[in-house]
Amino acid sequence: MKKQFAIIGLGRFGVSVSTELHKLGHEVLAVDINETKVNEMVNDSTYSSVADGADEKSLRSLGITNFDHVIVAIGDNIQASILCTLLLKEMGIESVWVKAQNYYHHKVLDKIGADKIIHPEHDMGNRIAQHLVSDKVIDYIELSDDFSIAEIAAPSFMNQKSLIDLDIRAKFGVTILGLKRGKQFNISPRAEDEIQANDILIVIGHKNDLKRFEENT
Ligand code: ATP
Repeated sequence: MKKQFAIIGLGRFGVSVSTELHKLGHEVLAVDINETKVNEMVNDSTYSSVADGADEKSLRSLGITNFDHVIVAIGDNIQASILCTLLLKEMGIESVWVKAQNYYHHKVLDKIGADKIIHPEHDMGNRIAQHLVSDKVIDYIELSDDFSIAEIAAPSFMNQKSLIDLDIRAKFGVTILGLKRGKQFNISPRAEDEIQANDILIVIGHKNDLKRFEENT
């Protein structure tokens, strides 16, 4: 289903989110206070507009209230990022996701009702570090301080064994959410599904349990 997104702030992060959403076929409004940045996005967005995201009148004139999802990707100007988020929430935008620069910025965004706070550098650093230290971990997404999802190459001893035989939840406290086999994706696999060589397991669990699973399989 086609969705509508507005991206405010066209630094590297904002541009990358806008471009990808546009490629996926969604309607994207790309906004920046800097005209050059807006002109660069003409081909990678549905609409692009020069506006100050920290100014209520400018936001309203963009018709921002027609968007269900707004991403605030204003970086260094923390004051503008906070004000923009506050205005968007006051206008009743249902889903406001904001890029945070640091811990204090995050705390304020949380207090004023940002629906999701993103730390791209931290999240990507984390994923790459997990990948670097283990040849089994293919990808790693932090869900909270305690819980994560990891993509782990299925170890050879699991070959031809069903999930029920392996009893992974009882042994390691983690749950297999999905199995990737080449281009095929089996979400919520059944207990009798068998693991094959080169399968990739999508595993969710407490970080300590995921580590134990990865080290002992
Ligand atoms: P990235 O790491 O994603 O490149 P950054 O953290 O370096 O971003 P900035 O470059 O500081 O972030 O800001 C991102 C964009 O936000 C810039 O293009 C800037 O012009 C724009 N911006 C700053 N203030 C406003 C504002 N009040 N309204 C709209 N856009 C703004």
